[in-house]
Amino acid sequence: MEDTVQIRCARCKNVFRDRARRLRNGYSRQCPSCEIVLFFDNDSPNPNIKRAMQTARSIRKALRENENKFATNAAGTSRSFSGRSGSKTRQNAESDDE
Ligand SMILES: [Zn+2]
Repeated sequence: MEDTVQIRCARCKNVFRDRARRLRNGYSRQCPSCEIVLFFDNDSPNPNIKRAMQTARSIRKALRENENKFATNAAGTSRSFSGRSGSKTRQNAESDDE
């Protein structure tokens, strides 16, 4: 499933994508086009950033629900278990802010 968010640069208006799991409060990255540093904050004065944060948040929620569903369905098969624990570790490493 789609797990990236569209971001519009505040300066050059270039549109690029970044992963929803990265876009959380305090995250910053350079625009690939003009190399200005964009700061991602839930209370950003930039409506583009703010919308990207909201989109990222809902994507993370959907990803989490997806993994939970998968975990329930896969219960009982050892082959699926290893895959499930792999994604769970990745998720725990980024403890959520919700
Ligand atoms: Zn730019």
